[in-house]
Amino acid sequence: MSEKYDLIVIGGGPGGLTLAELAAAKKKRVLIIEKDGWGGTCTNRGCIPTKALLSCSKYFADLKKLKRMGINIAEASIDFSAIKKHQQQIVKVSALGAQKVLAEAGVETKLGTGEIISSKEVRFTDSSGKSESCFAQNIILAWGSIPQVLPGITLSERVMTSDGLLNLNSLPSSIIIVGGSVIGVEFATFFAELGSKVTIVEILDTIIPLEDQECAEMLRQELIRMGVAIHTSTKLESLKDTNSGVLMMAQKDGKQLEISADYALLCTGRKPLLNSEELDKLGIEYTKGGIKIDKNMMTNMAGIYAVGDVTGGMMLAHRAAQQAKIAAGHICGDSDFSYNENFIPSVVYSHPQIARVGYTQKRAEEEGLLVEVIKSSYSANIIARAELLGQGFVKAIFHQDKLIGATIVGEDAAELIAPLALSVSNELTKKQLRAWVIPHPTLSEIFAPLLGD
Ligand SMILES: Cc1cc2nc3c(=O)[nH]c(=O)nc-3n(C[C@H](O)[C@H](O)[C@H](O)COP(=O)(O)OP(=O)(O)OC[C@H]3O[C@@H](n4cnc5c(N)ncnc54)[C@H](O)[C@@H]3O)c2cc1C
Repeated sequence: MSEKYDLIVIGGGPGGLTLAELAAAKKKRVLIIEKDGWGGTCTNRGCIPTKALLSCSKYFADLKKLKRMGINIAEASIDFSAIKKHQQQIVKVSALGAQKVLAEAGVETKLGTGEIISSKEVRFTDSSGKSESCFAQNIILAWGSIPQVLPGITLSERVMTSDGLLNLNSLPSSIIIVGGSVIGVEFATFFAELGSKVTIVEILDTIIPLEDQECAEMLRQELIRMGVAIHTSTKLESLKDTNSGVLMMAQKDGKQLEISADYALLCTGRKPLLNSEELDKLGIEYTKGGIKIDKNMMTNMAGIYAVGDVTGGMMLAHRAAQQAKIAAGHICGDSDFSYNENFIPSVVYSHPQIARVGYTQKRAEEEGLLVEVIKSSYSANIIARAELLGQGFVKAIFHQDKLIGATIVGEDAAELIAPLALSVSNELTKKQLRAWVIPHPTLSEIFAPLLGD
């Protein structure tokens, strides 16, 4: 039997879910097809499980602070199976939450694979192989992304990407992490805080290359303090599963580096999941960096949209959701704002966290913008001192009196960036910021110098 919808969404991650929910709220008849798990990469293999794990390791690491606060507790220890249970529980809650939202919005759901046949037809196939044709006015491609594996590396039980590593059931005594960008340093933080011996190997001369380098340096020092060995400017040559562990050969400063460990984690980027046969058949334009879209998230084929990681660029859950809002507005004829990649905040959930919105100082300088940089440190903040939050700072970038970017390194940076993201996306001036009253005493008072106080 064939069905007629206003909209068929293929992919149930943050992009697809947001679009389906918003369009259904506008009384569109919406079908969403997901082949794996509701919530996509974010819920099942990304944001949610990693943050559940990092909250466990953070509590464990923070126990060391308690003594200074006069609290003595018996020796603490790790129960890794309980940590995994916490991870699985939070993933389950997130996936159920996604399904509840869809049900409440009146979105029809199908678990299986969606394949675009024409600009109005999607073939749905369930796990038993049963197929049916579904028809719609609009089709949304929200296929997401997959890990990128370096050529010559074979995945195994001990050489894994983040997908495999999240299923690990025992704490490794040692691990090599290839790639010192966001996912790599988040896993490095988790394992190091729980006591694993962690080695990061990074081909570039710095970790977190896209963020403010003063922040990256503070994180580097903190990771080293946790016991992480960081080899930058180091080129991986081979990585082998030896059955009892892994053996890595690399080149650093012309010298051979040989490191063995229990496991290796590959964090060498992600690539859009491009079903090229389907795209080619319909003549939808793409590059290996992602499906090409216009300002409304529409592909070159009228009525077919693409949102989220499959479009390349910043691969973040809230960016996928923001693109979905734009596409939903265009489809439903009620767009009231436009998309600006500059307004998408990004967070590295290492300890300390690094959070940014808009311009870094380096990017502003590269673009020849005349900027004023205002820096404010955690060390001058009384709550940061009272709560033993350690070091951190905010760096705010003003251009022609407007806040165009900010980076925060330190505890709670992920939360603290939110008001700055609002300010940057509204292009607030210093004068407008002066009306902002910050409660006392709070960590947010690190923003006081931005208000001219
Ligand atoms: C380890 C890790 C940590 C991360 N941490 C964060 C973080 O802290 N914050 C953040 O913002 N982002 C984070 N991300 C990135 C985030 O997960 C992605 O940016 C986000 O999930 C992208 O959403 P999406 O909807 O584009 O795609 P996805 O979430 O990848 O969803 C796509 C869905 O489409 C389905 N699909 C694909 N093809 C088909 C088909 N033909 N038929 C049916 N279904 C199909 C897939 O099964 C998948 O479920 C992390 C990623 C990883 C790997």
